[in-house]
Amino acid sequence: IEKIQEAAADGRTVFSFEYFPPKTEEGLDNLFERMDRMVAHGPNFCDITWGAGGSTADLTLEIANRMQNMVCVETMMHLTCTNMPVEKIDDALTTIKSNGIQNVLALRGDPPHGQDKFVQVAGGFACALDLVHHIRAKYGDYFGITVAGYPEAHPDAIQSTEGATPEAYSNDLAYLKQKVDAGADLIITQLFYDTDIFLKFVNDCRQIGITCPIVPGIMPINNYKGFLRMTGFCKTKIPAEITAALEPIKDNEEAVKAYGIHLGTEMCKKILATGIKTLHLYTLNMEKSALGILMNLGLIEESKISRPLPWRPPTNVFRV
Ligand code: FAD
Repeated sequence: IEKIQEAAADGRTVFSFEYFPPKTEEGLDNLFERMDRMVAHGPNFCDITWGAGGSTADLTLEIANRMQNMVCVETMMHLTCTNMPVEKIDDALTTIKSNGIQNVLALRGDPPHGQDKFVQVAGGFACALDLVHHIRAKYGDYFGITVAGYPEAHPDAIQSTEGATPEAYSNDLAYLKQKVDAGADLIITQLFYDTDIFLKFVNDCRQIGITCPIVPGIMPINNYKGFLRMTGFCKTKIPAEITAALEPIKDNEEAVKAYGIHLGTEMCKKILATGIKTLHLYTLNMEKSALGILMNLGLIEESKISRPLPWRPPTNVFRV
């Protein structure tokens, strides 16, 4: 986080890559090979998600350790409150602390599969704000804390296809400010496809006194069905020109990917032109789209696209 602040102060553009824990051992090997190739391009940091409902807790901890100490990239681990009594939260935080990881994305989390509403577990926290308070109270300044921001408001606050009401939106922003005031250093946003909505959100945050960096979360469109699923789940507005561009090519995966790179590039160009110098790429564990966008922006070199894999001692994160 300090590195992001330094880079922002010198006007350098920095970027980061997000990954999620794969379901199989083979997927995990592939992920680390991909990560090695992507890290060669110099991301500011990489982060690993915490599975919904804590479903990947051990694997997330193990991957975070390998990222920090074997891939050797500055690592941020996501941590949610779902199904996590405070003892488990502290187990996770002390584990990453002992592994030298200093960055946490503090989240409430979504309800576990099959449940509609988030329910606070006995002895656990109700929201990300509680988690931020806890991390600061118990671990002082050791961790850089990131929190989630929602340019269109959190989906729970959105009750119609028109989006959040002005009141729900401003309550959401006020809550975000509480998270920052409680000690968060950085905001990463939920995905969006209307860049103007993101820019308005940044402006609205500044108006209410949120001063920390606000990093746009960019999710390249890789696949039409996946795009519909994610935007449906997050209640994301899709500009009419994007729907119009995708409609005729929706069954052609290569064309959709190429359009995703084009769109991501244009969105990032518009954001960078406003002076925001940080980009967060939701890679969905794939490399081509994220790297394609960064290459189009001139932030990485094509010649570096592959490099020999560094040797790594064998480990088995699926051990019992
Ligand atoms: P919170 O910040 O706690 O807020 C959730 C909503 O409740 C907001 O609308 C807020 O306004 C309202 N609210 C909560 N508490 C209060 C309060 N005390 N006062 C007023 N309003 C309140 N999910 C995962 O399971 N694993 C991940 O790894 C993961 N990574 C993510 C990364 C990013 C960048 C983003 C944007 C989301 C991620 N999510 C992840 C999804 C996230 O867990 C969900 O969106 C979840 O529903 C909300 O988490 P939060 O931390 O934003 O919650």
